[in-house]
Amino acid sequence: MQGKLYLVATPIGNLDDITLRALKVLKEVDVIAAEDTRHTLGLLNHFEIKKPLISYYKEIEKEKSDSIIELLEEGKNVAVVSDAGTPGISDPGEEIVKKCIEKGIDIIPIPGACAFVNALIASGFSTREFIFVGFLSTNRREKVEKLEELKLEKRTIILYEAPHKLKNTLETIKEVLGNRNIVLARELTKVYEEFIRKTVDEVLENIDEYRGEFVILIEGSSIGKKEVELSNLNNMSIEEHYKYYEDQGLDKKEIIKQIAKDRNVPKNDIYQMFL
Ligand code: SAM
Repeated sequence: MQGKLYLVATPIGNLDDITLRALKVLKEVDVIAAEDTRHTLGLLNHFEIKKPLISYYKEIEKEKSDSIIELLEEGKNVAVVSDAGTPGISDPGEEIVKKCIEKGIDIIPIPGACAFVNALIASGFSTREFIFVGFLSTNRREKVEKLEELKLEKRTIILYEAPHKLKNTLETIKEVLGNRNIVLARELTKVYEEFIRKTVDEVLENIDEYRGEFVILIEGSSIGKKEVELSNLNNMSIEEHYKYYEDQGLDKKEIIKQIAKDRNVPKNDIYQMFL
Protein backbone atom coordinates (compact mmCIF):
# COMPACT_ATOMS: atom_id res chain seq x y z
CA MET A 1 0.00 0.00 0.00
CA GLN A 2 1.20 3.50 -0.82
CA GLY A 3 2.15 5.87 1.98
CA LYS A 4 0.65 9.31 2.49
CA LEU A 5 2.17 12.75 1.99
CA TYR A 6 1.60 15.19 4.85
CA LEU A 7 2.21 18.92 4.30
CA VAL A 8 2.86 20.12 7.82
CA ALA A 9 2.78 23.80 8.80
CA THR A 10 5.34 24.79 11.44
CA PRO A 11 5.69 28.00 13.51
CA ILE A 12 6.82 31.32 11.95
CA GLY A 13 8.64 32.43 15.10
CA ASN A 14 6.76 31.37 18.20
CA LEU A 15 7.19 27.66 18.86
CA ASP A 16 3.90 27.54 20.78
CA ASP A 17 2.16 27.92 17.44
CA ILE A 18 2.76 24.30 16.43
CA THR A 19 -0.52 22.38 16.46
CA LEU A 20 -1.18 19.16 18.37
CA ARG A 21 -1.98 17.50 15.07
CA ALA A 22 1.31 18.64 13.53
CA LEU A 23 3.23 17.14 16.47
CA LYS A 24 1.28 13.88 16.20
CA VAL A 25 1.98 13.60 12.46
CA LEU A 26 5.69 14.46 12.86
CA LYS A 27 5.96 11.73 15.52
CA GLU A 28 4.16 9.13 13.41
CA VAL A 29 5.55 9.54 9.88
CA ASP A 30 8.50 7.47 8.69
CA VAL A 31 10.50 10.33 7.16
CA ILE A 32 10.48 14.14 7.29
CA ALA A 33 11.50 16.06 4.17
CA ALA A 34 12.76 19.44 5.31
CA GLU A 35 13.80 22.63 3.53
CA ASP A 36 16.78 22.96 5.89
CA THR A 37 17.44 19.81 7.89
CA ARG A 38 19.50 21.64 10.54
CA HIS A 39 16.73 24.16 11.12
CA THR A 40 14.09 21.41 11.38
CA LEU A 41 16.32 19.39 13.68
CA GLY A 42 16.16 22.33 16.12
CA LEU A 43 12.35 22.21 16.02
CA LEU A 44 12.26 18.42 16.43
CA ASN A 45 14.72 18.51 19.33
CA HIS A 46 12.57 21.13 21.06
CA PHE A 47 9.59 18.76 20.90
CA GLU A 48 11.71 15.66 21.58
CA ILE A 49 10.92 14.05 18.23
CA LYS A 50 13.50 11.78 16.58
CA LYS A 51 12.96 11.08 12.90
CA PRO A 52 15.03 10.46 9.78
CA LEU A 53 15.35 13.71 7.84
CA ILE A 54 15.96 14.24 4.15
CA SER A 55 16.58 17.62 2.58
CA TYR A 56 14.06 19.12 0.21
CA TYR A 57 14.83 22.67 -0.85
CA LYS A 58 13.83 24.79 -3.83
CA GLU A 59 16.90 24.15 -6.00
CA ILE A 60 16.60 20.34 -5.77
CA GLU A 61 12.82 20.19 -5.51
CA LYS A 62 12.32 18.41 -8.83
CA GLU A 63 14.90 15.61 -8.35
CA LYS A 64 14.13 15.18 -4.68
CA SER A 65 10.43 14.82 -5.44
CA ASP A 66 11.25 11.59 -7.33
CA SER A 67 13.03 10.05 -4.34
CA ILE A 68 10.16 11.11 -2.04
CA ILE A 69 7.73 9.43 -4.47
CA GLU A 70 9.82 6.22 -4.27
CA LEU A 71 9.51 6.27 -0.48
CA LEU A 72 5.76 6.85 -0.71
CA GLU A 73 5.44 3.99 -3.21
CA GLU A 74 7.31 1.71 -0.79
CA GLY A 75 4.53 2.46 1.69
CA LYS A 76 6.37 5.04 3.81
CA ASN A 77 4.49 8.07 5.18
CA VAL A 78 6.36 11.31 4.52
CA ALA A 79 5.91 14.77 6.08
CA VAL A 80 7.09 17.85 4.20
CA VAL A 81 8.01 20.88 6.30
CA SER A 82 9.59 24.21 5.39
CA ASP A 83 11.76 26.44 7.59
CA ALA A 84 8.72 28.38 8.73
CA GLY A 85 5.01 28.40 8.11
CA THR A 86 3.06 26.53 5.50
CA PRO A 87 4.92 24.45 2.90
CA GLY A 88 4.12 25.45 -0.68
CA ILE A 89 3.54 29.12 0.25
CA SER A 90 6.66 30.79 -1.18
CA ASP A 91 8.39 27.59 -0.05
CA PRO A 92 8.98 24.14 -1.55
CA GLY A 93 5.93 21.89 -1.76
CA GLU A 94 4.21 22.52 -5.09
CA GLU A 95 6.35 20.05 -7.04
CA ILE A 96 5.85 17.03 -4.77
CA VAL A 97 2.10 17.71 -4.62
CA LYS A 98 1.87 17.61 -8.44
CA LYS A 99 3.80 14.32 -8.56
CA CYS A 100 1.63 12.74 -5.84
CA ILE A 101 -1.50 13.68 -7.80
CA GLU A 102 -0.04 12.00 -10.90
CA LYS A 103 0.68 8.83 -8.91
CA GLY A 104 -2.64 8.81 -7.05
CA ILE A 105 -0.91 9.29 -3.66
CA ASP A 106 -3.00 10.84 -0.85
CA ILE A 107 -2.00 14.39 0.19
CA ILE A 108 -2.97 15.57 3.64
CA PRO A 109 -2.42 19.24 4.58
CA ILE A 110 -1.88 19.90 8.29
CA PRO A 111 -2.91 23.53 8.87
CA GLY A 112 -0.98 26.02 10.97
CA ALA A 113 0.93 29.29 10.84
CA CYS A 114 1.19 31.25 7.63
CA ALA A 115 2.73 34.73 7.70
CA PHE A 116 0.54 36.40 5.10
CA VAL A 117 -2.77 35.25 6.59
CA ASN A 118 -1.89 36.68 10.00
CA ALA A 119 -0.53 39.87 8.46
CA LEU A 120 -3.74 40.34 6.46
CA ILE A 121 -6.25 39.73 9.23
CA ALA A 122 -4.63 42.34 11.49
CA SER A 123 -3.78 44.83 8.74
CA GLY A 124 -7.03 46.77 8.72
CA PHE A 125 -7.17 46.47 4.92
CA SER A 126 -9.93 44.60 3.14
CA THR A 127 -9.78 40.90 3.99
CA ARG A 128 -12.73 40.09 1.74
CA GLU A 129 -10.65 40.10 -1.42
CA PHE A 130 -6.89 40.11 -1.67
CA ILE A 131 -4.09 39.01 -3.96
CA PHE A 132 -1.05 37.19 -2.63
CA VAL A 133 1.97 37.81 -4.84
CA GLY A 134 4.74 36.31 -2.67
CA PHE A 135 8.27 37.50 -3.50
CA LEU A 136 8.79 39.96 -6.35
CA SER A 137 11.61 39.13 -8.73
CA THR A 138 15.06 40.44 -7.84
CA ASN A 139 15.41 41.45 -11.49
CA ARG A 140 14.45 45.14 -11.70
CA ARG A 141 12.63 44.89 -15.03
CA GLU A 142 10.52 41.92 -13.90
CA LYS A 143 9.82 43.60 -10.56
CA VAL A 144 8.56 46.79 -12.25
CA GLU A 145 6.52 44.75 -14.76
CA LYS A 146 4.77 42.82 -11.99
CA LEU A 147 3.96 46.03 -10.10
CA GLU A 148 2.69 47.64 -13.33
CA GLU A 149 0.27 44.71 -13.65
CA LEU A 150 -1.00 45.53 -10.15
CA LYS A 151 -1.47 49.26 -10.71
CA LEU A 152 -5.25 49.15 -11.00
CA GLU A 153 -5.67 46.18 -8.65
CA LYS A 154 -8.48 47.01 -6.22
CA ARG A 155 -7.85 44.09 -3.89
CA THR A 156 -5.35 44.23 -1.02
CA ILE A 157 -1.92 43.28 -2.39
CA ILE A 158 0.30 41.07 -0.23
CA LEU A 159 4.04 40.63 -0.74
CA TYR A 160 6.83 38.78 1.02
CA GLU A 161 10.30 40.31 1.08
CA ALA A 162 13.72 39.53 2.48
CA PRO A 163 14.75 42.05 5.17
CA HIS A 164 17.72 43.47 3.23
CA LYS A 165 15.59 44.12 0.12
CA LEU A 166 12.78 45.97 1.92
CA LYS A 167 14.04 49.48 1.13
CA ASN A 168 14.56 48.80 -2.55
CA THR A 169 11.17 47.14 -2.88
CA LEU A 170 9.37 50.02 -1.14
CA GLU A 171 11.14 52.50 -3.41
CA THR A 172 9.98 50.55 -6.46
CA ILE A 173 6.43 50.37 -5.06
CA LYS A 174 6.46 54.18 -4.64
CA GLU A 175 7.76 54.61 -8.17
CA VAL A 176 5.17 52.37 -9.81
CA LEU A 177 2.09 52.40 -7.54
CA GLY A 178 2.53 55.84 -5.98
CA ASN A 179 2.53 56.84 -2.33
CA ARG A 180 -0.03 54.26 -1.19
CA ASN A 181 -1.10 53.33 2.30
CA ILE A 182 0.77 50.24 3.34
CA VAL A 183 1.06 48.00 6.36
CA LEU A 184 4.31 46.31 7.31
CA ALA A 185 3.59 43.30 9.48
CA ARG A 186 6.88 42.90 11.29
CA GLU A 187 8.23 39.93 13.25
CA LEU A 188 4.87 38.17 13.46
CA THR A 189 4.38 35.95 16.53
CA LYS A 190 7.76 37.09 17.92
CA VAL A 191 8.70 39.43 20.80
CA TYR A 192 8.92 42.54 18.60
CA GLU A 193 5.77 41.89 16.60
CA GLU A 194 4.48 45.18 15.23
CA PHE A 195 2.08 46.53 12.61
CA ILE A 196 3.40 49.67 10.92
CA ARG A 197 0.49 51.43 9.25
CA LYS A 198 1.83 54.33 7.16
CA THR A 199 2.29 55.61 3.64
CA VAL A 200 5.26 54.35 1.63
CA ASP A 201 6.98 57.75 2.01
CA GLU A 202 6.53 57.77 5.78
CA VAL A 203 8.04 54.30 6.07
CA LEU A 204 10.95 55.21 3.79
CA GLU A 205 11.74 58.26 5.96
CA ASN A 206 12.71 55.99 8.85
CA ILE A 207 13.54 52.82 6.97
CA ASP A 208 16.71 52.14 8.99
CA GLU A 209 14.61 51.77 12.15
CA TYR A 210 12.76 48.77 10.78
CA ARG A 211 14.45 45.43 11.25
CA GLY A 212 13.43 41.81 11.07
CA GLU A 213 11.01 39.87 8.90
CA PHE A 214 8.17 41.63 7.12
CA VAL A 215 5.04 41.01 5.17
CA ILE A 216 4.17 44.02 3.00
CA LEU A 217 0.48 44.80 2.47
CA ILE A 218 -0.55 47.47 0.00
CA GLU A 219 -3.99 49.04 -0.01
CA GLY A 220 -5.78 48.25 -3.26
CA SER A 221 -6.18 50.99 -5.87
CA SER A 222 -9.09 53.30 -5.20
CA ILE A 223 -9.34 54.26 -8.87
CA GLY A 224 -12.92 53.86 -10.02
CA LYS A 225 -13.91 52.50 -6.63
CA LYS A 226 -17.08 54.35 -5.79
CA GLU A 227 -19.48 56.71 -7.42
CA VAL A 228 -19.30 59.03 -4.38
CA GLU A 229 -15.58 59.24 -4.88
CA LEU A 230 -16.08 59.96 -8.56
CA SER A 231 -18.35 62.88 -7.82
CA ASN A 232 -15.74 64.18 -5.34
CA LEU A 233 -13.13 63.92 -8.06
CA ASN A 234 -15.28 65.79 -10.54
CA ASN A 235 -15.78 68.59 -8.02
CA MET A 236 -12.03 69.08 -7.87
CA SER A 237 -10.19 71.46 -10.15
CA ILE A 238 -8.70 69.72 -13.16
CA GLU A 239 -5.22 70.19 -11.63
CA GLU A 240 -6.32 68.56 -8.36
CA HIS A 241 -7.93 65.74 -10.30
CA TYR A 242 -4.64 65.24 -12.18
CA LYS A 243 -2.64 65.29 -8.93
CA TYR A 244 -4.99 62.70 -7.39
CA TYR A 245 -4.05 60.17 -10.07
CA GLU A 246 -0.42 61.25 -10.17
CA ASP A 247 -0.16 60.42 -6.44
CA GLN A 248 -1.41 56.95 -7.28
CA GLY A 249 1.47 56.37 -9.64
CA LEU A 250 -0.29 56.78 -13.01
CA ASP A 251 1.68 58.28 -15.87
CA LYS A 252 0.47 61.28 -17.92
CA LYS A 253 -1.23 59.19 -20.62
CA GLU A 254 -3.08 57.06 -18.09
CA ILE A 255 -4.13 60.11 -16.05
CA ILE A 256 -5.57 61.88 -19.09
CA LYS A 257 -7.47 58.74 -20.08
CA GLN A 258 -8.83 58.33 -16.55
CA ILE A 259 -9.88 62.01 -16.15
CA ALA A 260 -11.64 61.92 -19.53
CA LYS A 261 -13.48 58.77 -18.41
CA ASP A 262 -14.45 60.25 -15.02
CA ARG A 263 -15.70 63.52 -16.57
CA ASN A 264 -17.19 61.85 -19.60
CA VAL A 265 -15.43 64.19 -22.04
CA PRO A 266 -13.19 63.43 -25.04
CA LYS A 267 -9.61 62.49 -24.13
CA ASN A 268 -8.30 65.13 -26.49
CA ASP A 269 -10.03 67.95 -24.54
CA ILE A 270 -8.15 66.94 -21.40
CA TYR A 271 -4.96 66.43 -23.36
CA GLN A 272 -5.16 70.00 -24.72
CA MET A 273 -5.45 71.37 -21.18
CA PHE A 274 -2.18 69.73 -20.18
CA LEU A 275 -0.17 70.58 -23.27
N1 SAM B 1 5.91 29.47 4.08
C1 SAM B 1 5.94 30.68 4.85
C2 SAM B 1 4.51 31.07 5.23
O1 SAM B 1 3.67 30.19 5.32
O2 SAM B 1 4.26 32.23 5.51
C3 SAM B 1 6.65 31.79 4.13
C4 SAM B 1 8.08 31.49 3.81
S1 SAM B 1 8.86 32.72 2.86
C5 SAM B 1 10.32 31.86 2.36
C6 SAM B 1 9.54 33.79 4.06
C7 SAM B 1 8.89 35.18 4.04
O3 SAM B 1 7.67 35.14 4.76
C8 SAM B 1 9.72 36.25 4.73
O4 SAM B 1 10.66 36.83 3.84
C9 SAM B 1 8.66 37.24 5.18
O5 SAM B 1 8.28 38.08 4.10
C10 SAM B 1 7.51 36.31 5.53
N2 SAM B 1 7.59 35.92 6.95
C11 SAM B 1 7.88 34.71 7.45
N3 SAM B 1 7.84 34.71 8.79
C12 SAM B 1 7.51 35.97 9.16
C13 SAM B 1 7.31 36.62 10.41
N4 SAM B 1 7.45 35.98 11.56
N5 SAM B 1 6.97 37.93 10.40
C14 SAM B 1 6.82 38.61 9.24
N6 SAM B 1 7.00 38.04 8.03
C15 SAM B 1 7.34 36.74 7.99
